[in-house]
Amino acid sequence: MQFRSPRGTHDILPEQAGSFRKVIETSRDLFEHAGYAELVTPIFEENELFARSVGSETDIVQKEMYVFTDRGGRTVALRPEGTAPVVRAYIQHGLHARGDVQKLYYVGPMFRYDRPSAGRYRQFHQVGIEAIGSLSPYLDVECMALLLGIAQRLGVRDVAIHLNSVGCKKCRPPYVGLLREYLAPRIDSMCKDCNTRYLTNPLRVLDCKVESCRPFLEGIPRITDHLDDECRSHFGEVRDILEASGIPCTLDPYLVRGLDYYTKTAFELIHSAFGARTSLGGGGRYDDLVELLGGDPAPAVGFSAGVERFVLALEEARGEGAGGKDRNNAVRVFFVSTDPGTRTLAFREMLRLRESVPVDMDFAGRSVKAQFRKADKLGARYAVVFGGEELAKGAVKLKDLASGEETELPLAGLTERLGQMGGTQ
Ligand code: AMP
Repeated sequence: MQFRSPRGTHDILPEQAGSFRKVIETSRDLFEHAGYAELVTPIFEENELFARSVGSETDIVQKEMYVFTDRGGRTVALRPEGTAPVVRAYIQHGLHARGDVQKLYYVGPMFRYDRPSAGRYRQFHQVGIEAIGSLSPYLDVECMALLLGIAQRLGVRDVAIHLNSVGCKKCRPPYVGLLREYLAPRIDSMCKDCNTRYLTNPLRVLDCKVESCRPFLEGIPRITDHLDDECRSHFGEVRDILEASGIPCTLDPYLVRGLDYYTKTAFELIHSAFGARTSLGGGGRYDDLVELLGGDPAPAVGFSAGVERFVLALEEARGEGAGGKDRNNAVRVFFVSTDPGTRTLAFREMLRLRESVPVDMDFAGRSVKAQFRKADKLGARYAVVFGGEELAKGAVKLKDLASGEETELPLAGLTERLGQMGGTQ
């Protein structure tokens, strides 16, 4: 019997790991430059945390959570998203006391029992930020700028920020009433999911992707026409700041997010290369969540972005298929031994050199020719040949693999010498 990774999960192979890391490192760098500090939370939490925050009637909680009872009888869930755990930690550790706005970021795996497809996994990774403790619309725009910034830094084009406001707990209920009234005579002709959403969470009808439901959405009341004064003015400020900052956005009245906790601003970064539209990331305000989870009221805004989705977009931008050409190893020097007798010496020198330079050698007993081929394949800049002839003179041969030039180096002080050269590219 041969094992395979569980359905909906995937291995990140060495040739993909470079892009994977690049997405994460680019995001980290952007976040830290904007004053966000990393917060690492467990990958599982009390189930109730997500039911309360994401919403007990959402798809995520209803259909997609990995929930299990541990050996102590506690009901826990693998985290489906990062905001609720960050807010839980913010409250638990009294982070509000550290200053007016807490700017936090996270990186890590999330779990959703979703139907697997291209770019949709059951275990995937997100990077995300949360700015907790302020209503300032500048922070909403900062979030959008950072999400867009990831794409720009990675060279991912054909992206657009889609923006909407989903109101607040005061103006949303009357709007949802209007929505129900509008949908009532039409709902029988709509898809099964819309019928369920009509009863439990009518707002989600707006972002139904089923083609046959689209015509029903055309004349639907728009939430932005029904915002209360505070939400309307906040939304206006966000749009003004976006414009003044030169950040283009597309107003999208159908944009609602799959999680209940959003208030006011909601946005997504849509990638539309090659005809398909995918969401690379999304976020918005959640002004009531901290209080809902038991903290002192603190308005907040944030976003999360899908690492795998950015990897796919990055590979597309570079014109590579899955399994890009990234050389995901750092080896700069390769030690070649001409006969087994010189191998131990080469090994000892290699261990020393590794303190300053990334170096590797052959472990498969290959021929000298094959060892050079391997050095080439790893992208090494230099080969150091441990040959009987040179060693008899207390020396080794250094070959510059780019120019083919060979020089003899004394064995004594080899590590220092190569260290000084730094295995330069
Ligand atoms: P959400 O938390 O649903 O707003 O998702 C934020 C981002 O995470 C999306 O824009 C995607 O990039 C990514 N994402 C969400 N669900 C998945 C999934 N099942 N597989 C891969 N990426 C996902």
